[in-house]
Amino acid sequence: MLTFVLIAFLSSAQLSAAGGFPPALPAVGEPSLQQTSPLIEFRARSLQPGEAVLIRVKGWEMMSEVRGRFLNQELHFFSQAGEWSALGGVGLATSPGDYQLEIEGTLPDGTLLKAVKDFTIEKKIFPLQSLKVDPRFIVLSPEDQRRAAEEQEIMRKVWENPQPVRLWRGRFLAPIPDVEGRGFGNFRVFNDQRRSQHTGVDMSAPEGTPLRACNSGVVVLAMELFFGGNTIFIDHGEGLYSMYFHLSEILVKKGDMVIRGETIGLVGATGRVTGPHLHCSIRLKGARLDPFSLFSLALEEE
Ligand SMILES: [Zn+2]
Repeated sequence: MLTFVLIAFLSSAQLSAAGGFPPALPAVGEPSLQQTSPLIEFRARSLQPGEAVLIRVKGWEMMSEVRGRFLNQELHFFSQAGEWSALGGVGLATSPGDYQLEIEGTLPDGTLLKAVKDFTIEKKIFPLQSLKVDPRFIVLSPEDQRRAAEEQEIMRKVWENPQPVRLWRGRFLAPIPDVEGRGFGNFRVFNDQRRSQHTGVDMSAPEGTPLRACNSGVVVLAMELFFGGNTIFIDHGEGLYSMYFHLSEILVKKGDMVIRGETIGLVGATGRVTGPHLHCSIRLKGARLDPFSLFSLALEEE
């Protein structure tokens, strides 16, 4: 786990130049430099496409609210022991390059203070992989085409209507303990024909192995899909979803609240698969993340 630290000592003149922010208005006594310059820390395995990033802001204990923007994602900061934290993600499709995090805090009297942090997304090379699957998943019948399109629409509607509040707490758990997740981001060629990018990880386990919810949330999809087979989506709130595919059995239903670690289904080989395994994927505000980058984040228990 690498930790990136930057101390944002910025005058209001720099802030105005950087982002066109208005200078902070002195309210009841000018806030001291110490108070206005937060320490912004990134916790992540790396800053590369597909990585979850915990953004922590220290030194802004006096704020009543903190907001921010990271790679076009609105950040939802929560306060814990005087520090503000938010979950961000570098989407699989994010281009390498230089970016800027913007944060804004509101003092109890309504005064707004802003700070920025520059960061760089490094390039990541994803390997190419060949797979053989049942040809009916490659050249779809008109009926299967219709079905796949309908299911795509169902998923899109789920992702467009996230729970507005955070339902997850503390660290995220791998859905099957002690099993590695493979192939995130790989470019895949199915039956030498269809090419796509693998937006989740595959976890090998025998058929019938129980799998657990990686964190608390509400079940927003629990059904059999053409490609995904028996599938569960958990909405963890504020645009974060965990998704579990190819199950032999679904043990929850749509609308159920689940708690972190609860058994939700059994590993199987339904849908477009080469054998029994769990395909797990994570989506944060539209960004596709390597689930293990999220599971490895050092989040404090709440
Ligand atoms: Zn997979």
